[in-house]
This record gives sequence, C-alpha cells and structure tokens, in this order.
Amino acid sequence: MIFKLAIFAIVCYVLYRLFMNDRKKQDEKKAAERERKIQSDEMVKDPVCGTYVDKSSAISVRSGDQVLYFCSYECRQKYIESVQEQKKLD
Ligand SMILES: [Zn+2]
Repeated sequence: MIFKLAIFAIVCYVLYRLFMNDRKKQDEKKAAERERKIQSDEMVKDPVCGTYVDKSSAISVRSGDQVLYFCSYECRQKYIESVQEQKKLD
C-alpha cells in the first residue's frame, strides 16, 4: 500500500514537473515572439499607457511628421486631449 502511494506521488510529481516545464516553455516562447515583434517593428508602444500593440491592429494618429500608435480609442483621446492642453499653455 505504501509502495503504491509512493509511486502515485512520484507520478504526480513527474506530471507536475512536465506541466510546469511546458508552461515555462510556452511563456518563454511568447516572450521571445513579443521581443521579435518589437524589434522587427511589428509591435509599437502606446505612448499613453505604455502597452505594446500590434501595428496592424493599433490605432494610428499622425502627429507632425511622426505616426503614433495607440492600443485603444480611449488612449488616443487622452493623447489628443493632452496635446490640446499643451497647446493652450503655449
Ligand atoms: Zn493604451
């Protein structure tokens, strides 16, 4: 009986380790993919909240000679408002 329990415990431990390794690998893969996208310019940083967004799904706004990308309309709105606020101060 004790022997069976020990085997059961070992099996559980092995499965747990395998599962955790898998999770770790997936996380590493995701991080690497994200890193690659940022470096290859497919990912852009939202200047308002600092989130990285896919360029194809980001909301872009032309500001002077540069294009800014936002994760949501809320962030875009916040940016526009902050620019208008600065213009008022000038
Ligand atoms: Zn945002």
